[in-house]
Amino acid sequence: MILGCTGQDGSILCKSLLKQNHRVIGVSRTKNTGSENLKKLNIENDIEKISLSLINQNEIEKAIDLYSPDTIYNLSAQSSVGKSFDKPSETFASISLSTQNLLESCRKTSFRNRIFFAGSSEMYGSSKKLINLKDHKNPISPYGIAKTNSFELVKLYRDIFEIKCMTGVLFNHESILRSDQFVFTKIIKSAIRSYKNPNHKVQMGNLNIIRDWGWAEEYIEVIKMIANAKIPNDYLICTGKGYSLKTIAQKTFERFSLRWEDHIQINRQYFRPTDITKSVGNPIKLYEDHKWKSKINIDEIITRLINSLHD
Ligand code: NAP
Repeated sequence: MILGCTGQDGSILCKSLLKQNHRVIGVSRTKNTGSENLKKLNIENDIEKISLSLINQNEIEKAIDLYSPDTIYNLSAQSSVGKSFDKPSETFASISLSTQNLLESCRKTSFRNRIFFAGSSEMYGSSKKLINLKDHKNPISPYGIAKTNSFELVKLYRDIFEIKCMTGVLFNHESILRSDQFVFTKIIKSAIRSYKNPNHKVQMGNLNIIRDWGWAEEYIEVIKMIANAKIPNDYLICTGKGYSLKTIAQKTFERFSLRWEDHIQINRQYFRPTDITKSVGNPIKLYEDHKWKSKINIDEIITRLINSLHD
């Protein structure tokens, strides 16, 4: 059962599980809309899509009783950090309240299978050094605060009620499904447009921020691995390498023999009220426990996105 099945990660996870011949129950807030990603992956008719409000605990309990899933993946969230400043209540409800409702539903229905929760690097705020799972949390956005709260709830239910739940703390990850509301895709699309039209200009916010960028399909396989590991445990899902948006702009525009400075204009209007300067994770725990290391580096991510978005 995948909550948030229409999102970037939810759709890719649906595809991956279908490939392994699993029955997939896809949960969305709406039954008949918002399936663009599932359509793009050509799997819209292969999952059983149901509508459910995670704000309503009764509805969750009924669905768990009805379907008795082997694993529940909770990827549902208002997932934009920027939007969370404008919509803090919606963000909090979609992350913290949903997590609480889901955990409590599992406790009440005696669901004893696995539940995976999507956490976020935003829980840690800015850090000059590589972030480790047990580092102090310092969220600086409503989104980061909601994810931190959700992370602590998952830990509490695991420790106190012995529910087999875990959080994968996800660092940024990209795919061809990301909209240009997200900055990595916005940079790639701007470079393509600038190549086609030398007069093209685009406005962006702070390009000095450094993030740890991964590839969604690779992270989805890690999510499945963590969810099914013998001992339920939390992990950071990251590459260990950080790049600024400026570097990504430079690397992308260079592919078209262009200078990003000629096409991207910095506009303070796009700056967030608070922003994380640097956030790069340490993937050591995944390597020690599961021998996992990211194989898809930043240049490969740029290549894949250009190849899929450039017609
Ligand atoms: P996404 O594309 O935004 O998908 C999230 C899904 O959540 C949406 O398709 C939507 O599905 C559902 N949703 C529930 N409440 C919502 C609300 N109030 N507003 C908007 N959508 C809502 O997110 P994603 O990139 O797949 O990320 C999956 C999970 O990983 C999320 O929990 C996200 O916070 C976390 N995460 C992602 C990244 C990343 O780089 N992608 C990094 C760190 C953490 P319906 O409309 O069908 O209900």
